[in-house]
Amino acid sequence: MTRTFVITGSASGIGQSTAHKLKSLGNTVIGVDIHNADVIADLSTHGGRIQAAEKAIAASNNSIDAIIACAGLAHPTAATVAVNYFGVTEFINELLPTLTQSKTPRVAITSSVASIMPNSTELVEAMCANDEGKAVEIAQALVDAGAGGEQLIYGSTKRAISRWIRQQCLKPHWAAAGIPINAVGPAIVQTPMVEQIIKTPEERDGLAKLVPMPLNGFMEPEVVASLLIWLTGVENTHVTGQTIYIDGGFERIVRGEDVWSWRE
Ligand code: NAD
Repeated sequence: MTRTFVITGSASGIGQSTAHKLKSLGNTVIGVDIHNADVIADLSTHGGRIQAAEKAIAASNNSIDAIIACAGLAHPTAATVAVNYFGVTEFINELLPTLTQSKTPRVAITSSVASIMPNSTELVEAMCANDEGKAVEIAQALVDAGAGGEQLIYGSTKRAISRWIRQQCLKPHWAAAGIPINAVGPAIVQTPMVEQIIKTPEERDGLAKLVPMPLNGFMEPEVVASLLIWLTGVENTHVTGQTIYIDGGFERIVRGEDVWSWRE
């Protein structure tokens, strides 16, 4: 069965690899990115997101079977909040009425292992409350303070987006409408986002020490693409609300063996 996918961040890295793979399987892919895409749009602004959704719906002839959100920034700036959280949630919400008409609707988002790393509670809560003005203000204050707090911004966006999925997944317009919504949580993926910070063997070793991946080390974007494709494929009828860590064992190192004792 061939289906129509809308993929953000399709011009590079994980989004590009996912788009290629889906096309090679005969699917229709509508790529959305700030450059080199079927739909050129800036997902950091409200207007850009609305325009992106309208153009994607038009390009699909009102027929969207899945959304895969990969567009993202890893900068320690307020723009990262606008793209990684609101550029995902507002864009997906705009496409939802069209997606709901599909017989096999699915959504998957790229979160990160950064979702389980230190974050700013205040910033996460502002995002989860859907308050973009406040979230951007908090992020900007972290940058302006210049005390290292800006390093919490990226992880905060990923914590918030993984929480948004859990906040949404049981609502009638998701679960009762038959739409699984999940995230992937990659560790280090060799994409342009990361390549710029591991140009020397010393930088590469430093990152490998910071984010150890005992199972097979750093990965190629195709590895993450395969999981995104399964989560948005017709076979996924019952996995929802999850962030699936795809990380060579890093999450297991951070959270330990017993992740079931939360009730005790
Ligand atoms: P990448 O930089 O290769 O690709 C990101 C894409 O997002 C680019 O094509 C870029 O143009 C697009 N984008 C950025 N800002 C945009 C905007 N305002 N509007 C529209 N498009 C915009 O990065 P990647 O590594 O492929 O990252 C994809 C996703 O995976 C991101 O959300 C990232 O946080 C996440 N992730 C990456 C890694 C990693 O190690 N590479 C690990 C965990 C999570």
